[in-house]
Amino acid sequence: MSEIEDQDQHQYGILLYYKYTQIPDLNELLGFYESNCNSLGLLGRVRLAPHGVNVTVGGKLSSLERHISEVKSNRLFEGTDFKLATCHRPSNDKVAEECGFTSLSIRIVKELVTLASHPLLKSPQISNAGPHLSAIEFHSFLQSAGKLLDKESPTDKKELVLLDARNLYETRIGKFHAPNVDTLDPQIRQYSDLPSWIDENGDQLKGKCVLMYCTGGIRCEMASAYLRSKGAGFENVFQLFGGIQRYMEQYPDGGYFKGKNFVFDHRISVGSSDANIMGTCLLCSSSFDDYSSRCRCTYCRMLVLVCGSCLKEGATYVCELCKKHGKGVGSMGTVEVVESKQISPDVELSTVSPDTKLSSQMSWRHGVRSPRKLRILCLHGFRQNASGFKGRTAALAKKLKHIAEFIFIDGPHEVPFIYQPSISGTDDNCESSSVQPSPPPPLENCKKKFAWFVAPDCNGRDGSDWKIADGPFDPLQYQQQTDGLDISLTHLKSVFSQEGPFDGILGFSQGAAMAAVVSAQERLKSEMNFRFVILCSGFSLNLVEMGCGLIKCPSLHIYGSDHGKDRQIANQASKELAFLYDSGCSVVIEHDRGHIIPTRSPYIDEIKDFLKRFTQVINLDPKAQALNCITLPLD
Ligand SMILES: [Zn+2]
Ligand SMILES: [Zn+2]
Repeated sequence: MSEIEDQDQHQYGILLYYKYTQIPDLNELLGFYESNCNSLGLLGRVRLAPHGVNVTVGGKLSSLERHISEVKSNRLFEGTDFKLATCHRPSNDKVAEECGFTSLSIRIVKELVTLASHPLLKSPQISNAGPHLSAIEFHSFLQSAGKLLDKESPTDKKELVLLDARNLYETRIGKFHAPNVDTLDPQIRQYSDLPSWIDENGDQLKGKCVLMYCTGGIRCEMASAYLRSKGAGFENVFQLFGGIQRYMEQYPDGGYFKGKNFVFDHRISVGSSDANIMGTCLLCSSSFDDYSSRCRCTYCRMLVLVCGSCLKEGATYVCELCKKHGKGVGSMGTVEVVESKQISPDVELSTVSPDTKLSSQMSWRHGVRSPRKLRILCLHGFRQNASGFKGRTAALAKKLKHIAEFIFIDGPHEVPFIYQPSISGTDDNCESSSVQPSPPPPLENCKKKFAWFVAPDCNGRDGSDWKIADGPFDPLQYQQQTDGLDISLTHLKSVFSQEGPFDGILGFSQGAAMAAVVSAQERLKSEMNFRFVILCSGFSLNLVEMGCGLIKCPSLHIYGSDHGKDRQIANQASKELAFLYDSGCSVVIEHDRGHIIPTRSPYIDEIKDFLKRFTQVINLDPKAQALNCITLPLD
């Protein structure tokens, strides 16, 4: 074997490409990829959807080249931009695992990348994506930006703005920077957070000429379509074709791109020169942009930059986003890093080719880790408490234990203990005046009871006394409990900052009324960010905070049907609450079990179905799933 051949044997590469096009026969294409990738010994990920293909595979360079030529022979792939990067073999198991190159996974999916403002709505129409700009066009747009200021031509007057569609850990080490052009950097942890950022920052983009870019282009396809779907003022959205990757090829000195292009990991972060380090060490702020230590934020698992001299075994790291939300203050460096290493035996449908050189380095014992569970904050009903509610929902929590984790808290308004005096010889027509109240139960056996709203005449609990119920149970008493929202909101905000982030809020009865108020107010999002509410036996308080207009927060409404005989909250009240939500993103489960959260079939399956939509959004792809969070660019 000649030396050159021998070298080629050891040349490895990573190939990325995507193509949006109508696929006439998905199964046929699936068959092609299965036989082609297996015979060539490629590992990685292939996603096929009715409207396109997204491929990230690694293997021998010569095999990747053969793969490209065979794909090219299919007319569907006309004009596809194949990005092939050479690399050495993955340096360690961790990196290989993160890159998804421990197996080959070929699957048919509904969407290539999921980008909906909320998971129950459809992704934007890809046909509405912004026009592509070649690297050269993109460059000249930026070049002319400075000159535009002097020009009087009305068509050129639009202000240019750069929009980075990538995640914070990617923009940390490199981004576009051009004189006279603002670069908007959304500082998101994952792609699915981009629509909400766009929703909240539309005014920075409206009426401007927006130049979008990402690593290899695919994220801008959807994101530009989403931005353009906002209508008037958002017509001038362009995307960099082929992403930073193609731009860097065109401008090897980096052009207007400063720093490195985060692709998979440090080995193939492509960048101009070491003098151009944009990143800084999280701890000492020295110039640094190497992710090879794979340090992650203890709270959100996002990659963080920690330089060699700050690196310490077992240290805790708090990323800038978590710091902003008050995480980990004063707890640096001591807590043990909790890395979830659960290994699930059911690795997704994947074909494995154990004879490839890439795989021989990797440990097969590493399966796909369990997806991150949804964290759901639970708000109890009136005159209840965290532990009581936890007990009542234990069966539910058990049935959902693989998907969700429930976090229980007390409401902020302590309410008096109340007891109905036991009455001897009771019957429905008894006259209360003739009964002697029995002594109240001993206080020390009772847990404090709380509420989210209280009646205006209630001054809170004054101490240790029992209060005897004023009268018989009044099914409409909840309508009088309208005070105390401000205190409850402040309380929830601090729970979010100390115990968050949460994926969703589950509220029961009055807790549902509270959750409803929070979900109705978009402006609370910066302090209380969550993605869905579950409202059980809920009702709506007639508060201004409920606003008018449909509530856009994805919601699951669970309540007893008319004959379900919920004695506390009438079916109609829960129904009216459900009507306040955008039906495009709400799901209703009516059951026959009264004032409870049903845990039997078919209700439990409907609850699971609702929650699964959110686990899928977190775990956009199986590689990310393996990591408990998104780490890889989607292209
Ligand atoms: Zn450092
Ligand atoms: Zn973090």
